[in-house]
Amino acid sequence: MHQQLPREIDPFRFAHSGLQITGEIPVSKMSRLSEMLYDDSGTVLVDMQFDIDTTGTPFMLGQFAVTVNLLCERCMESMAHSMNITTKLALVRHEGKVEGLAEQYEPWILNDAKQVDPALMVEDELILALPIVPKHDYSCLPEQLWQAGEEEIEPEKPVSPFAALSALKSKK
Ligand SMILES: [Zn+2]
Repeated sequence: MHQQLPREIDPFRFAHSGLQITGEIPVSKMSRLSEMLYDDSGTVLVDMQFDIDTTGTPFMLGQFAVTVNLLCERCMESMAHSMNITTKLALVRHEGKVEGLAEQYEPWILNDAKQVDPALMVEDELILALPIVPKHDYSCLPEQLWQAGEEEIEPEKPVSPFAALSALKSKK
C-alpha cells in the first residue's frame, strides 16, 4: 500500500460512480499542517469512499490515519500523537447550500472547481482534529516545575525567588 493519492479528482463524478480511492500522503507534503507540528515526519493513510445517499446527497466517507510529532507545550519536547479520523462530508457547490444539509454531514465546499486536490481536504480535516494545547499525558517535567506551571501558587506560602532561579538553572 504505497500508492499516491490522485492529485486531482472530480468529487461529484466520483460520487455518481460510487468510486473509492486509497493512498498515502507524506506529512512533509502538507505545509500548513507541518507548520503546526514538531517535525514533518509521518505518512497519512487515506481511504475515501464516494457515494450518493438515499436522499440524493453526494458525499465522501473518509478515513485518515497518521502518527505525527507534536510539540508538548509543557516540556517543549516532541510528542507522538496518533490520529484516526472518520469523517463524512457532503459535497456542496456553494456555501449557500450548506444550510439544507442533514445533521450527519459536514460540508465539503467545492465551488466551481471541476477538479480538486483531495490532499488539501485531508489536510484541513487533520488540522481541525489537532489538540488545541498538546501535552504529554504524563508529568513530563520534574514535579516542582510542573506544579508551578500548572497550578496557582498558594499565596500564604512565600516563594523564594532563589528557588525559582535555581529551578530555572537546573533546567538548562
Ligand atoms: Zn511534555
